[in-house]
Formats: sequence, structure tokens, C-alpha cells
Amino acid sequence: MSDYRLDTICVQSGWHPKKGEPRVLPIYQSTTFKYDTVDQMGKLFDLEESGYFYTRLQNPTNDAVAEKIAELEGGVAAMLTSSGQAANFYAVFNICEKGDHVVCSSTVYGGTFNLLGVTMEKMGIECTFVNPDDDLETLQKAMRPNTKAVMAETIANPALVVLDIGKFAELAHSNGVPLIVDNTFATPVNCRPFEFGADIVTHSTTKYMDGHAMAVGGCIVDSGNFDWDAHAEKYPGLTTPDESYHGVTYTKKFGKAAYITKATVQLMRDLGSIASPQNAFLLNVGLETLPLRVEKHCSNAQKVAEYLNSHEKVVKVNYAGLPGDKYHALAQKYMPNGTCGVISFEVDGGREGAIRFMDSLKLAQIVTHVADARTCVLHPASHTHRQMNDEQLREAGVSPGLIRFSVGIENPQDIIDDLEQALKAI
Ligand SMILES: *Cc1c(COP(=O)(O)O)cnc(C)c1O
Repeated sequence: MSDYRLDTICVQSGWHPKKGEPRVLPIYQSTTFKYDTVDQMGKLFDLEESGYFYTRLQNPTNDAVAEKIAELEGGVAAMLTSSGQAANFYAVFNICEKGDHVVCSSTVYGGTFNLLGVTMEKMGIECTFVNPDDDLETLQKAMRPNTKAVMAETIANPALVVLDIGKFAELAHSNGVPLIVDNTFATPVNCRPFEFGADIVTHSTTKYMDGHAMAVGGCIVDSGNFDWDAHAEKYPGLTTPDESYHGVTYTKKFGKAAYITKATVQLMRDLGSIASPQNAFLLNVGLETLPLRVEKHCSNAQKVAEYLNSHEKVVKVNYAGLPGDKYHALAQKYMPNGTCGVISFEVDGGREGAIRFMDSLKLAQIVTHVADARTCVLHPASHTHRQMNDEQLREAGVSPGLIRFSVGIENPQDIIDDLEQALKAI
């Protein structure tokens, strides 16, 4: 790990070429890697030596990018996944099994809500969703003896609820479980959850990290801070021999790298949601400019939020950068340099008003995406959250008229002009 600052890490870390090697991270477009003797490769299968043998387990391009993200978050190890969904699934499934339970903020991304509330429930892992704004005493009621993790998003997509990371870390740690934080929207540029007590961080790198809407991807980062052995009875998968891997005990053999090693050699081996090296390469290009882009996204979003906030046809604006926002104080505490480029708001006329307004936008385009260089817009109730009923929508902090507006890095006046003409159409 380097002592460089974040913007230096973004351009310099991960790939460290030796004499005569390519300066730019190469795409190791190879499923497999060659050895000279039977024994050399055998040692890799025994985890006796580290090295590459099959890209489903590890690939040098992917590892370089994972290392860069681990440094950005201040963690000890990281693993890329094929998507943010896979990252969140693996992050939880790595420490939970049938009969276990997790506690999760109700305002998380719709995909995570379904993953935990429906799909993992079918696997025998139950989830209780909690209101992230509740006090500790109320949150504690959701915890059970079989709870294995607490989960939330730094800035919830699309509700834009800013997480009180310290409060959630206290909830998790006082119950002897880790806090998993999805840091997709804040990115390590604006917030590094490990500094406030989070133990595991996940990302949909599809968003700001890639930044150009080119490659779906995810990442899991481990802080190395959670003491699995101190709660060994809760985490037998990490603290007792893995019969599927010659009886290795991950915490004994790998120490602080135990969690990511298990996720790699066991979950990735069996479930296989790997990032393609080509996508990892694109992600790395995106990461190089992440601090520049995030700063511009945030300054543009601040201007757009202020404009919307003063418009008579706008009923409500959610953006923690606004002094009147419910989450302004939390944002000041956890991300004083800015939050993200995503704003949500409601216009006159509820659901119909929203649709009319969106259909009138010209520069801002309707896409199922968020957090890339181009300004885009989405109607959660019609799109990402379409499967939810009105009550679930309310719990997720999404009203039927809510518009999710992802401010890009264009000239801010052009974005505002577009909003102006579309608001006239309502
Ligand atoms: C998009 C998103 C995900 C899912 O990521 P994919 O890369 O689309 O699979 C998870 N969490 C958050 C906060 C997201 O915004």
C-alpha cells in the first residue's frame, strides 16, 4: 500500500511495470497461464504459492484494478466482480449461510432490496429492513442472535439518504458483526467508510468509477479490521477448515486477507461472476480521472439543485448539498467535500407531472443508468422500482412522482436551460 494521496493513487497505483514492461496496464486477455512442471501448478491449487492459473480465480489485469480500489478505500484487499449486484451478493454470502440473518437499511438500491428480500430469502438467509434514520435503540430491535451482518449505502440510490455510518458501525459492532457499506454514490473521493467504522465496502463500479457508462462491474474491499476469530462461532466459514479447499482455515492461513481470499477461492471458484479483463481495463481508465469528474459532478449538481429548489413548479428537491436538506448535517460530517451528482426531486402533478416533464427533456436523456459523464434521468416508480408496491416504495424513500436526475459533467448552464424548457411543459 502506498502513502500517496487519493488523486495520485488513481493514476499511479495498481499496475507497477518492471523494466521493459508496458507503462499502461495491459489487458491479459487469457483464460489460462503456463507452468513448467506439474508440481509448480499443483502448489497453486493447494494455495501453497500465489500465482495465476485460471482467470475465473484471478487475472493480472483484474488484480491490478482491485489493488487500486483497495488503496483508494484504505483497505487491505479487494476483489472485482462482474457487477455491483454480484459484489453485494458475494459480500453477504461470504459470511452468511442458510439459517442466518442480516439487517439492512430499507432505502438501499432496488436491486439490493430484491437480492436480500427475495432471492437470498429463498436461499434461507433472512433479511430485516430497517429505517436508517431510526435511533440505535430502535435499530437494535431488528438484531437477532443469528444476525451476521449489517448493511447500508453511504448515499442511498435513489432516495439520497445519507447514512450515519458511525451509528450503523456501533449497531454492528455492539452485536459482534461487521458493517458492510455500499459506497457506490459517494466514491472514495468523497467518503471512505472505513474511517468511520465500516468493515467491508462494496461498489457498483458501473457508476462513477467507470464514469463513462461503458462496463458493468463491481468490487468488494475489506478493511481487514473485523476480528473474525473473536466471533469465531458466528463465522465458521472463515474460522474452521474448508473441506472444499483441503481443510484450509482462512483466518489462520491468510490473516487480514482471509475474507477476500475466501471470496476469491471459494465463492468465485463456485459461482464465477468474474469481471472480464477488458472491462477491468476500461474501469481502470475511468478511475484515473475519478477525482476530477466527481468534483465536477458535485459542483454541477449543487448549481442544478439550487436552481430546482427555487423553481415554483418543483415541489421538493432531495440533495444533501442543500443547506435545508434533511441530510445536510450528516453529509457535512461524513463527506464535507461533496456528496454525489445525483439529485432527486418532485414536480407539480405527481406521477403524471414527472412523466410529462421527463418526456420534454432534450439534453438529459432517459436511460437506466446513473452517475456517468452524460446527464441522464429516470423515473424510479416506472423503471428501477417498478416491481415494488406503493408501501415498499414509501419504505425505500421513493414517492410515485420522484425523478432521479443524474447530473453529468457538461456545462451546468446547458443542463439548467434544458430543465427550464421541460418545466415549462408541465
Ligand atoms: C447500480 C447499483 C448497484 C448494482 O450494481 P450493477 O453494477 O448495476 O449490478 C448496487 N448498488 C448501488 C448503490 C447501485 O447504484
